[in-house]
Amino acid sequence: MEIVFLGTGSGIPSRERNHPAILLKYEGRQLLWDCGEGTQRQMAIAGESPMKIDDIFITHWHADHFAGLIGMIQSMNLEDRNKPLTIYGPEAELFVSDILELGHWGVGFPVKGKELNFDGNEIESVAKYEDFSVFSIPVNHTVPAVAYCFKETDRINVDLKKAVVYGLKQGPIIGKLKADGSVMHKGKKIKLEDVSTTRIGRKITYSGDTTPCENMVKLSKNADIMIHDSTFLEDVMNEEKRRKSHSSVDEVAEIAKKANVKKLILTHFSRRYHSLKDFETSAKKIFPDTITAKDFMRMKL
Ligand SMILES: [Zn+2]
Repeated sequence: MEIVFLGTGSGIPSRERNHPAILLKYEGRQLLWDCGEGTQRQMAIAGESPMKIDDIFITHWHADHFAGLIGMIQSMNLEDRNKPLTIYGPEAELFVSDILELGHWGVGFPVKGKELNFDGNEIESVAKYEDFSVFSIPVNHTVPAVAYCFKETDRINVDLKKAVVYGLKQGPIIGKLKADGSVMHKGKKIKLEDVSTTRIGRKITYSGDTTPCENMVKLSKNADIMIHDSTFLEDVMNEEKRRKSHSSVDEVAEIAKKANVKKLILTHFSRRYHSLKDFETSAKKIFPDTITAKDFMRMKL
C-alpha cells in the first residue's frame, strides 16, 4: 500500500504547501482523506487520477479541507464517471447536497453524503472494503470534526504443521474450521486458535484539525502510522491559537508516545514556516520516530 501526501499546508496555501489532502492506495482501491482546493491539480502533478478514487472522507467542513470537491466532482463528471461516489464526514449530507446545488453542472453519476458521528468518544465503523475498513472518532476542533483510521483486516492463517498434530490435513475441514472457528474431529473439539497464526493488519490514522485529544490516542493505539495536525511550534502557542483548535508539535509527539504508534508524520503546517527542521527536532525529543510531511511525499508500506 502507499500513502501520497497531496497537500500538507493549513488554512492558507503557500508556494511549498497546498491545502490538505492525502491519497491512500491499497491493492487497486483508492481513498482520499480531505480534499482541499487544488487537490485534483496536485493529483495530476503526482501522476494520480481522481477517476480512480473510490470514496472521499472529509474530516470537517472548513474550506481548506473540502473546497477541492467542487472541481473534482466536475472533472469526474466530464470524464463520464458512472461509479457512485460516497463522501463521508460529520454533517456530510447537508454539505454534499449544498455543493451539488452550486452552479449549472448536472452531475451524471450518484454522489451522496454519509453522516458520521461527531460527539462523544466512540469509534465508529464507517466503511468496509474487501481487505480493510475505515473507522472514525470525534475530535476537538472549532466545528464538528472527526479523525479517520484505515485498518487492514487481520489475517488468520491455519498453520498446517500445527494442524497435523491434531490430525487435520489440508481439505474442506480446514475451510470449515476457518469459517466456524472450531470443528469436531474424531470426537475432539479443535479450536481455530489452536492451529493458526494471526497477522495483525496495518493501521494508519489521520487526525484532521484538532487540539490534542484522548480520542486520537484511542483511535491510534499501536498504529503503524499516525498522521497528525501539527500547525504550530510550541513557542507560538498561546490562548488564541489554542482557541483556534490546533495542536503544537510537542503536544502531538506526546500523543504519539501515549498511543504507542510506530511512526508519527506531522502535517498541516502554518504558512509562517518555510523550514520544518524545528518541527522535527522538537518532536524527536519526545517521540524519535517522527517525520514531517511535504507535498508529493510518498510512503510505501
Ligand atoms: Zn485546516
